[in-house]
Amino acid sequence: AGHAPKPTLVDSISRPSTHLPLVSRLFQPSNLRDVGQESRAQGEMTCKSQRLMQQAGLIHPSNPGCYYILPATVRSMEKLVRLIDQEMQRIGGQKLDMPSLCSAELWRRSERWDLMGKELFRLRDRHGAEYCLGPTHEEAVTELLASQGTLSYRQLPLMLYQMTRKFRDEPKPRFGLLRGREFYMKDMYTFDVSEEAAYHTYESVCQAYNRLFSRLGLRIVQVQADTGKIGGKLSHEFQLPADIGEDRLLVCGSCSFSANVETMEPGRTDCPQCQVGTLVESKGIEVGHTFYLGTKYSHIFNATFNNTQNKPAVTEMGCFGLGVTRILAAAIEVMSTEEAIRWPGLLAPYQVCVLPPKRGSKVDEVAGLSEEVALFLGEALPSLRGEVVLDDRTQMTIGKRLKDASQLGYPYVVALGQKATEEIPRFEVICQQTGETMFLSRDGLVDLL
Ligand code: ATP
Ligand code: MG
Ligand code: MG
Ligand code: MG
Repeated sequence: AGHAPKPTLVDSISRPSTHLPLVSRLFQPSNLRDVGQESRAQGEMTCKSQRLMQQAGLIHPSNPGCYYILPATVRSMEKLVRLIDQEMQRIGGQKLDMPSLCSAELWRRSERWDLMGKELFRLRDRHGAEYCLGPTHEEAVTELLASQGTLSYRQLPLMLYQMTRKFRDEPKPRFGLLRGREFYMKDMYTFDVSEEAAYHTYESVCQAYNRLFSRLGLRIVQVQADTGKIGGKLSHEFQLPADIGEDRLLVCGSCSFSANVETMEPGRTDCPQCQVGTLVESKGIEVGHTFYLGTKYSHIFNATFNNTQNKPAVTEMGCFGLGVTRILAAAIEVMSTEEAIRWPGLLAPYQVCVLPPKRGSKVDEVAGLSEEVALFLGEALPSLRGEVVLDDRTQMTIGKRLKDASQLGYPYVVALGQKATEEIPRFEVICQQTGETMFLSRDGLVDLL
């Protein structure tokens, strides 16, 4: 009696670490030079999210369109990946991982080897065989499915997705993670028995996307879109309204119609759906894209199934992209002020930052209490395990560290000052989303968080 049950292997893998990260030890090289001015001097375009992310030590540039994704951003990205996994698996998606080296032979069969032109990164192996670095994986996934022989209708719909690096030699890489030459994408490919079934699957993925963006607190416009080089019949883009967006959207003032200008007759201002409303133009960042592909790829690669009459038929496909790294940067772009980063609550790299007083100050005695509170929060609230950092740079004033914390956008900052020396210590809590400041006891803190 009295012994805790022995942790199982699963427990020990899934439980986040309980150690207390110290700000002085985090690899987050803040760069207070004016990144915007520097880039403008080199003739490059920048935007708010790129500038803030570079200054805060969230990303660091390497080659054009390529970035070091630094530890805080990796934490945030891992959270986004988990959310996307939840939404994709909830509708039946199964995660896999396909090679980035894609053989030219596959891409020649779909005729995209030539069509993709300079956007494709091409290379040869030691035997002279040609490859590209995958910019998207319709060919690969359809070939994978075809290699399994004829499926049964009972195995469909099949929804396979991955979250991997994609490579595109963009003509104008810019705006940090918003348009890289190397970036993370979630790409899902679906296989169905009929056009009707494929439309049903299409709808359920669109719903999953809408759920994801609403959980992130991002207001998205779903617009009709061009099917471009992917090919297919029906397509929507998920656009985040923003001034620096590179897509132009037309939204009807009277009905639900909205479209990318690329799909419409140029110059059109009257709504093609309701015929009464006027189309208003705005700008957006494309964070997701859905396509109903029909049998374009399944026909070429022979991805077939046996139908209910036991006759072979070609599968109906869809493909569904989400820009993982682009969503992070786009969220920062639309939520932040010019000086301070704001994250969707679920994606902040750390949820809470605890600030002990300056070393040698009148209230120095509560330094130990700061550490205790930081550890206590992680223990009392499972959702905060591993999410609390201690800003131990106590040679700096509280004011300077508060400013840093505001710039980095921790959702909650807990500072220890005079009131923490009282018999029942109270802590200053700043909620960054609302700017509200409160003085709370330990219990009050637990209730709030
Ligand atoms: P864009 O019009 O911005 O060039 P795209 O239409 O070429 O994007 P898709 O082929 O539809 O992109 O890819 C799916 C998703 O991948 C996009 O909706 C976007 O969120 C993301 N994405 C595409 N290109 C990039 C890039 N260069 N950097 C970051 N994310 C990207
Ligand atoms: Mg593109
Ligand atoms: Mg596009
Ligand atoms: Mg697109």
